[in-house]
Amino acid sequence: MEQMKRTVTCGQLTAKNEGQTVILNGWVHRNRDHGGIHFINLRDRYGETQIVVDEDAAEALKEKAGSLKFEYCVAIEGIVRARPESMINPDMVTGEIEVSVKNISILNSCKTLPFMIEDETDSNETARLKYRYLDLRSKGMQDRIILRNNVTYAIREYLQKSSFLEIETPTLIKSTPEGARDFLVPSRLHAGKFFALPQSPQLYKQLLMVSGFDKYFQVARCYRDEDARGDRQLEFTQIDMEMSFVSVDDIFKITEGMMGHVFKKSLGVDLPLDFQRISYDDAMNLYGSDKPDLRFDMAFQDFAPFVPASSFGVFKSVLEAGGAVKALVVPGAAADYSRKKITELEETAKTFGAKGLAWMKVTTEGLDGGVSKFYNDQADAICSGLEAKEGDLILLMGAAWKTACNSLGAVRSRLGKDLKLIDENLYRFVWIVDFPLFEYNEDEKTWEPAHHMFSMPQEQYLETFDKDPGPVKGDLYDLVLNGYELASGSIRIHDPELQQRIFNVVGFPKEVAEERFGFLLESFRYGAPPHGGIAAGVDRLVMIMAGKESIKEVIPFPKNNAGMSPMDDSPAWVDADQLQDLHLNIIMPEVDKKEE
Ligand code: ASP
Repeated sequence: MEQMKRTVTCGQLTAKNEGQTVILNGWVHRNRDHGGIHFINLRDRYGETQIVVDEDAAEALKEKAGSLKFEYCVAIEGIVRARPESMINPDMVTGEIEVSVKNISILNSCKTLPFMIEDETDSNETARLKYRYLDLRSKGMQDRIILRNNVTYAIREYLQKSSFLEIETPTLIKSTPEGARDFLVPSRLHAGKFFALPQSPQLYKQLLMVSGFDKYFQVARCYRDEDARGDRQLEFTQIDMEMSFVSVDDIFKITEGMMGHVFKKSLGVDLPLDFQRISYDDAMNLYGSDKPDLRFDMAFQDFAPFVPASSFGVFKSVLEAGGAVKALVVPGAAADYSRKKITELEETAKTFGAKGLAWMKVTTEGLDGGVSKFYNDQADAICSGLEAKEGDLILLMGAAWKTACNSLGAVRSRLGKDLKLIDENLYRFVWIVDFPLFEYNEDEKTWEPAHHMFSMPQEQYLETFDKDPGPVKGDLYDLVLNGYELASGSIRIHDPELQQRIFNVVGFPKEVAEERFGFLLESFRYGAPPHGGIAAGVDRLVMIMAGKESIKEVIPFPKNNAGMSPMDDSPAWVDADQLQDLHLNIIMPEVDKKEE
């Protein structure tokens, strides 16, 4: 039989099409037999259409309709007719009509499904990933993959209009340091040598600036060989951008414009024309995080002024040791927060290195519970200083500055969720600026780049940064959305001497730097323009826009938490011949040998 090719999709027919003969192709989503009448919901990526085989239809047709099981792929020819009044579904585009079937062709049958194709499946992750091609048929996944398409399309549209060029950079490269471990690709032609997969196109986009392509972007795949942790994926996608002759303000403007266009086009949401900026120090001091969720406020306050007059020794010693004592006032939470619930908050703080979490409650008589006995004689000053009112809970954290910030920040985040302080419909962007350029690695006793090694120190540190790296701030920035780091970037160094000084601070002696990045340093000697850029994570962006909490929900074929793909069983063994071609010998770790 000649194939019945679709004339319409399953998401398109309305009352306007009444009386037309149409052919639909799609999957059997539901098939119900109501006293001899078959109601079949046919689905494709555009929607669902109700197909009806009437009671007085030919026996053979009825039999065929009865044989259709879940996910059979079928072609159906029929006539569009209005649904009876009582069966109109105003929530569906096709809810006014049904198609009365004349002809059914089964294009393919379907085995018993491992899980039902629902709008959102609650099936377990392993099954979803093993049968990802089925999971991707669900409405939720289809909507998200379509959203992802719309997002990258809008990005391309905006950047092309703004004179950016989309340029590809290689995926077989010399290792580029972004702080993670490289994936290596053994070379067959050059025994013993390896390519690395790019952790990002960082060096290449800088080289493109040297070449004069002053506005570059790429929807770039990036690879980082990291341990399975939380929601990380071994490969991910960035909108990678680089520009010449720009200031930080220019980079912010283009990014804000791009985000505005993306949100308007794909969600119909208007974003503010420019985003708030907060310095790294303020973000840490006020919200305990360099990626604060500003959908709710509840900022920290300084409790140090109240410490000296009290006999509470713990906080005194913290201050003497150069630490910080911070207060978080939780409005109206005193009654609800029992000792048990406060202990839970303390546990959260402890996972970020805090030794404990002190507290007290504001009552009509003054302060009550927890450490209040040490502070009651200052109750009025504390309450007016912190703007705490009767019924509020005051949480206090004393520790080394970063520990105090991070651990109270974790408590703030938890309270935001527990107390439902977060408006889930908000998209709250904020730039974090003035980051430290270097971080001290206590274990290795070395300075490391806080972002990467190619970022410019701020001007006032140019003379002195090598002598005293700690306080140095860089021209680097992050874009944060609803508590997620969405993008980061910097103004780059374009002077080989300055670049070499940075390499020195982070422990790359001249010879090593020459060996690894000689080509970049050399390019800077040929009239390299001043330049800077940014890269935004596409997976995270689409995840937040889709209201999900895992990037796996917006990646068509992600790896599982063990960094494997249950569908194709990768990573997998390869043949001995392949290893030989690559001049490789496998040495199995002890534990795996036993498991064999
Ligand atoms: N290459 C950087 C990253 O992947 C982003 C940038 O500095 O443009 O984080």
